[in-house]
Amino acid sequence: MSTQRKIVFDAIGSVTTEQYDDPHAALEPGQVRVAAKYIGICGSDLHVLAGGHPFAQPPTVPGHEICAEVTEVGPEVEGVEVGDHVVVDPIMACGHCRACLAGRYNLCEPPMVAGFRAPGFGRTSQVVPARNLHIAPRDLPWQVLAFAEPATCARHCVGRLPESARENVLVIGAGTIGLSVIQALRIMGAGQITSVDLDPTKRQLAATLGADRTFAPGELDPAETFTGVIDVVAAQATLTEACTRVVAGGTVVVMGVPSGPREIPLPSMQRFERDLVSSGMYVPSDFADAIAWLADGRFDAARLVTDVFSLEDAPKAYARAQEPDSIKVLISLSD
Ligand SMILES: [Zn+2]
Ligand SMILES: [Zn+2]
Repeated sequence: MSTQRKIVFDAIGSVTTEQYDDPHAALEPGQVRVAAKYIGICGSDLHVLAGGHPFAQPPTVPGHEICAEVTEVGPEVEGVEVGDHVVVDPIMACGHCRACLAGRYNLCEPPMVAGFRAPGFGRTSQVVPARNLHIAPRDLPWQVLAFAEPATCARHCVGRLPESARENVLVIGAGTIGLSVIQALRIMGAGQITSVDLDPTKRQLAATLGADRTFAPGELDPAETFTGVIDVVAAQATLTEACTRVVAGGTVVVMGVPSGPREIPLPSMQRFERDLVSSGMYVPSDFADAIAWLADGRFDAARLVTDVFSLEDAPKAYARAQEPDSIKVLISLSD
């Protein structure tokens, strides 16, 4: 038995922390126990907190972005040691459906994702499958490693954009994910990168992190087109702009989470082979790449972490994450 703590969304709009007795059950084959260092707050957590998420409602323990230290290794686990610094992939895939057999664990249905249908990572200690771990260099600062999940989302997103479409890319939206996508495009060899966002501070950051040009919505020349457009907002207006600004034969990637059905200008899409593809979470190789980018400094996470709160201040952390001038808000679970 050990005393642990967890973050709980106890009712719609309400965050609390609780102490509980962890029975410290013996690990099953393939399992490891980890001690959380930081979790990150993302827009989908706020959606759960507001009671608007289709797969998770309060009361629940949130959290799908985590960096942690391995504290115990179960039977039949290879390649993982106590003391390893890790990121845990929150996709608890079944491992045997058609999608899983193809290595596309993000498409396993129903999606058992930590913090939604599966137990959230917002607790000081947890048992997870060893196959979900990605081991990071021990000298990588924890607050940088805490950014691995959003960087991984961006890595996957750019992978969905064919190389031929990376020549001249428009990224609509420069929040956490938009700014991560801009960095991933730069690292993955995109040509010109153009960023559009409402917020002047985020436009400035987009320029610092790799955008060649930045605009407020409505400022871009109406005639300008792009070989690839990444819509990180997925509102009707942004999707329409994406579909009308992409060149014939180009590709639009829907990266934002749409709040409902959207219309697309299908006649011009069909006739001129403008492709519409989507990006939903990631696969394990995306984590490996993102951790390597964080480790060698190609991906700048430090500028994107605007706030760090202690576990006791978790309610303040979720409130801060709802303010438009925050980017990534972290909660420390080890102090
Ligand atoms: Zn997230
Ligand atoms: Zn599956």
